[in-house]
Amino acid sequence: MITRRRLIAAAALWPIAPAALGQTRPLTCGQVTRKQTEGPFFKTNTPQRLTLVEPGAKALKLTVTGQVLSRDCTPLKGALLDFWHADETGEYDNQGYRYRGHQFTDADGRYRLETILPAEYPGRARHIHVKVQPAGGRVLTTQLYFPNQARNEMDGLFTPDLVMRMKGPGQGVFDFVVA
Ligand code: FE
Repeated sequence: MITRRRLIAAAALWPIAPAALGQTRPLTCGQVTRKQTEGPFFKTNTPQRLTLVEPGAKALKLTVTGQVLSRDCTPLKGALLDFWHADETGEYDNQGYRYRGHQFTDADGRYRLETILPAEYPGRARHIHVKVQPAGGRVLTTQLYFPNQARNEMDGLFTPDLVMRMKGPGQGVFDFVVA
């Protein structure tokens, strides 16, 4: 039987949790972001840019923001994020670089992508491809998904832990945790 005194003694053996120090930490820390296939449409040498929105684009706008963190929740400055996704008709640009671009996290490990809402295409739920690479580290290839999409359950690659949190219409949030 565990007595109250024994519980207190056990608690004293644990290091002080960051929460106890009054710091807020993203929930994803400690769990490395799941890898997924890059699929058939990745291209190297994407332009460096924060916005992928084409001039005159009529599609719904989407921003995706978040941080790149180490497993111990350290924000990683200068991490590379290379994004690519389908256009509003579900097509990838395999000739040029529409809806493809890379950027680097700021001093707080933050990124901000401005783009459009990608369309679904046959066999796939709505998603965004990304490669994340901390400075001097390994590349993590994965995909981000949207909440409450009927197609999610029919997509064999879909996984709930890669769903963005929507903090408003067209405002996705996702923190990457890299090994
Ligand atoms: Fe895709």
